[in-house]
Amino acid sequence: MINIPKGTKDVLPSDAYKWQYVEGTAREIAKLFNLKEIRTPVFEHTELFQRGVGDTTDIVTKEMYTFKDKGDRSITLKPEGTAGAVRSFIENGMASSVLPAKMYYITPAFRYERPQAGRLREFHQFGVEIFGAKGAQTDAEAILMADTLLKKLGLNVKLYVNSIGCPTCRAAYNKALKEFFAPHLDGLCYDCKTRFEKNPLRLLDCKEDACKKINASAPSILQYLCPECEAHFEELKYCLTSARIDYEIDPRIVRGLDYYTRSVFEFVSTSIGAQGTVCAGGRYDGLIEELGGNPMPAVGFAAGIERLLIVMDQTGVEIPAPAVPTVYIAGMDADCRKKAFELAAALRKNGLFVEIDHMERSVKAQFKYADKLGAKYVAVIGGNELAEGKANVKCMATGESESVAFADMAAYFQHK
Ligand code: ATP
Ligand code: MG
Repeated sequence: MINIPKGTKDVLPSDAYKWQYVEGTAREIAKLFNLKEIRTPVFEHTELFQRGVGDTTDIVTKEMYTFKDKGDRSITLKPEGTAGAVRSFIENGMASSVLPAKMYYITPAFRYERPQAGRLREFHQFGVEIFGAKGAQTDAEAILMADTLLKKLGLNVKLYVNSIGCPTCRAAYNKALKEFFAPHLDGLCYDCKTRFEKNPLRLLDCKEDACKKINASAPSILQYLCPECEAHFEELKYCLTSARIDYEIDPRIVRGLDYYTRSVFEFVSTSIGAQGTVCAGGRYDGLIEELGGNPMPAVGFAAGIERLLIVMDQTGVEIPAPAVPTVYIAGMDADCRKKAFELAAALRKNGLFVEIDHMERSVKAQFKYADKLGAKYVAVIGGNELAEGKANVKCMATGESESVAFADMAAYFQHK
């Protein structure tokens, strides 16, 4: 037997309705905020992620699924959705049509990680990108959208916000970080020693306990914001308050990707511990230029669908049950089953949810099966019914039966 690869999961037919509910709710919220869907390829040129995600990030240094295709090109399975959306935005000249360009996607993403609960090698994201608007009000709208979705799904989450400034304020902050970490270098993990040299901000994102302990007393970025970034952060806080969104400032949030500027945020579930970050995002004003477009501000976020489902499951959020057949048509013998097949075809043309027997079960076993499916009615066709051109229809909830002519069945079930 061949097993599923480590860190991946099947969505079984019996569970798919949960995914459809979360995805359907996300699409609904996207519509309320005037977002249109974008679909980009599952694989891109490796360079897109090296430049777009950042070559000092964990994703690029350790987690990418990269391979050479038969044409000897370096290809990478998308580890996140933003880089592809930005590439498409530039390549399709979307900057010259109406701005802001507001879009969302639901996509698989691939990262070679150590699999744990809520941490997979193939996972799925609902992501949002808004291109062209620079004001903090747009950041607040992205946060409001995520908040609306999470609340609609019944999640209890806490919102943490931070500003990581612009390249100007970051230069001063990086210097301060280096001064702070220099005496602690021996206590840091191997990766953090490299981060110290290449991108000190990344030190704050380390998940090793020893590093986290040292990080706790590192200087705060908020003390190093330039006046413009400071004003932007103030405006964001004002907008969040006016939209009645509770938040906490966490100066330790720097996010795992290199391209963020100014606002960054995370929604963390208060009901589970590890892997509690269900949604994260921020502003990335430098990315479009980095990937070859004209300078253009942007803001976005991504929510991990598996994590949303785990939290919903653990906190007992009720997901509406999938639809059940309106009618199950049971046939007594081969001829009756033929009639059941013909009737089912006709009823489905009228948009009715109908099931019939495919396993040559007895009528008794068909009743049992119909009950298991949750069918509202069972229409039985025996020899007499077949001769008279009608079925004996039983309502499963009340147990009452009545005779319904084959010709009247579509109308009979239309509003059941
Ligand atoms: P973490 O700090 O947990 O590794 P991250 O910063 O790498 O998360 P992002 O790149 O911001 O995550 O991705 C956005 C969201 O996607 C996360 O908040 C999370 O819900 C989800 N996510 C990220 N990596 C995984 C994974 N390996 N498995 C499942 N979900 C994931
Ligand atoms: Mg990660």
